[in-house]
Amino acid sequence: MDDEKRQGLLSVILPSCNEEASVPRAAEMVSALLAQAGIAHELLFVDDGSRDGTWAAIQAQAARFSQVRGVRFSRNFGKEAAIFAGLAQARGDCAAVMDCDLQHPPEKVVEMYRLWQEGYQVVEGVKVSRGKENPLHTLAARTFYSAISGAMGVDMSKASDFKLLDRRAVDTLLAMREKNAFFRALSSWIGFSTAQVEFEVQPRLEGQSKWSVRSLVRYAVTNIAAFSAAPLQLVTLMGVVVFLCSLGLGIWSLWQKFTGRALEGFTTVILLQLLIGSGLMVCLGIIGYYIGKIYEELKDRPRYILSERCGGEKERGQAEKTL
Ligand code: UDP
Ligand code: MG
Repeated sequence: MDDEKRQGLLSVILPSCNEEASVPRAAEMVSALLAQAGIAHELLFVDDGSRDGTWAAIQAQAARFSQVRGVRFSRNFGKEAAIFAGLAQARGDCAAVMDCDLQHPPEKVVEMYRLWQEGYQVVEGVKVSRGKENPLHTLAARTFYSAISGAMGVDMSKASDFKLLDRRAVDTLLAMREKNAFFRALSSWIGFSTAQVEFEVQPRLEGQSKWSVRSLVRYAVTNIAAFSAAPLQLVTLMGVVVFLCSLGLGIWSLWQKFTGRALEGFTTVILLQLLIGSGLMVCLGIIGYYIGKIYEELKDRPRYILSERCGGEKERGQAEKTL
């Protein structure tokens, strides 16, 4: 395959959730750009349980363009699941993941593909700026990324889901059995020869962001737990600190008793009880959370369930077998 520059089919994966307005625009723009650059491609829309006309829009695009295919989830499984479904369906020699709302500039995909041609196996989109956000959101994101970067030992502060992966890297990711996969981090964690492409986050043209504060917090907690056992070690650390304090306090109380100054200190007892009680419960909560995660993984449920597919009529027979 390698004679100077490799050639190959590029699969572009576009997770879409309630994006009826963005789907036609994305299909047209990305297709036109890649065709112009002379890159053989397929577009793979993953409808993540949309409640609007997204699926109809995808079907319409699949009827219009032979290179457009779509799969539909039986309900909303989240963007991570949508990305993995796209990777599983991709037939390309390399696969790019980008947001369907065009906040990831499509022309950068061409740049990523060129780097892939040069032999890179993972090409990461790196945010130059985070676009327009409120300061609280930026602060929260920064805290989350420093936690996850610490857990992984890889700087994640500018990471995004905008990436292009070689078939090798795609297959490596697909072979991972963990259900709680965090694409952005895992695709760095797997290694391979990596290049970076800088991009500016574009303003959203249609609709609005699907993230609420609640879903962002849940996302952060889940992914930190998926990548790190540090909170569990924190429990041990808290135990050690409390133990040291109790040693000091114990000696002091005994001293009080033997010098005949005990009996006072009812408030101290109440405060200590409250402190230890709540500390223990928080620790149990952290441990419980991890046990819950183990339970989830143990059940080995699929990451997502497909209900429908469209496009790629020619390869239908083959596709049906892989469903
Ligand atoms: N998305 C998805 N499932 C979800 C939420 C979002 O597939 O449950 C898709 C969405 O359609 C979009 C991309 O993930 O293509 C990024 O979502 P969004 O634009 O809402 O997030 P933001 O750009 O604000 O981070
Ligand atoms: Mg967006």
